[in-house]
Amino acid sequence: MTKLSVVVPCYNEEAVIDRFDTTTRGVLGDLPIEYEICYVDDGSTDGTLARLRLLAEQHPGATRYVSFSRNFGKEAGMLAGLREATGEAVIIMDADLQHPPELIARMLELYELGHDQVIARRGREGDRPLRTALSRAYYGAVNRWVDVELADGVGDFRLLSRPVVDALLSLPEYNRFSKGLFSWIGFDTVTFDYRNAAREAGETKWRFGSLLNYGMDGLVSFNSRPLRIAIWLGITLAALAALYAVWITVDAMSNGVTLPGYVTLVAIVVGLGGVQMVMLGLIGEYIGRIYYETKRRPHFLVKERCGLPGPPEDPRE
Ligand code: UDP
Ligand code: MG
Repeated sequence: MTKLSVVVPCYNEEAVIDRFDTTTRGVLGDLPIEYEICYVDDGSTDGTLARLRLLAEQHPGATRYVSFSRNFGKEAGMLAGLREATGEAVIIMDADLQHPPELIARMLELYELGHDQVIARRGREGDRPLRTALSRAYYGAVNRWVDVELADGVGDFRLLSRPVVDALLSLPEYNRFSKGLFSWIGFDTVTFDYRNAAREAGETKWRFGSLLNYGMDGLVSFNSRPLRIAIWLGITLAALAALYAVWITVDAMSNGVTLPGYVTLVAIVVGLGGVQMVMLGLIGEYIGRIYYETKRRPHFLVKERCGLPGPPEDPRE
């Protein structure tokens, strides 16, 4: 191993960034390798950027940062960091010390054994029970419907070898769902477990709504199987309706016409209306994605890069 890059997306992490830097640098300093830390300021509105400028000044060469013109989301932050990283291997970490820097040594050991992706999987200690239960249910469902394997507790905390980083950077899509991309690219992968730590300071950027959206991304980002499900659902409902019609007709012929099935009618109309809305929404979701892809907008805009004004960004050819 010649050089390790640590990529850290930061959004309003003023309260914890210095502590993160000190701890991580302590760990990296003890290892017999060269390292660099690439911070990505994701349009923070607090003093994060000022701290990053200071850190880059204090550790020239070993610390770099990119600052976005606004908040583009963690996916964009990770992408920018991966483009920025020059190391032979890259570790992606959160700035809030929920990803214990002490695990870096362990990851490097596994990397030296020849693994291309080394994943640290967290337990769910300290999470709210509702979030844990929903996550479990979600991953159970999604793995049945989606081609790539998504595992519970497996996040962005991982070491990637250079070939893996290059593979990720070669994927041009606008809608990036990293959890799926990591899994989709393959390569020799190994996972180990660690105990989840509570956030050191600051607060989580995830609201319940954003988690729901993230979940939706996971479902439709990778294949069109949900559309296939829609077709089967349609066929099943049509078959049931045909059977019901036959039964009603036979019943009417043998017993005569009885009271009309008012409730049945309303239930069927409303129910089918709902199913159609859901399926239309599903199709719309895919079309929306096509719409965004065709615009070919950059994933992020750089405002500043280690003190220099950023280039108008888009290396996608
Ligand atoms: N983050 C980011 N952009 C965002 C939201 C989050 O770069 O729009 C960063 C954040 O600074 C942190 C990491 O992504 O380093 C994980 O965020 P958070 O701790 O809020 O997520 P959680 O740990 O609750 O899943
Ligand atoms: Mg966190």
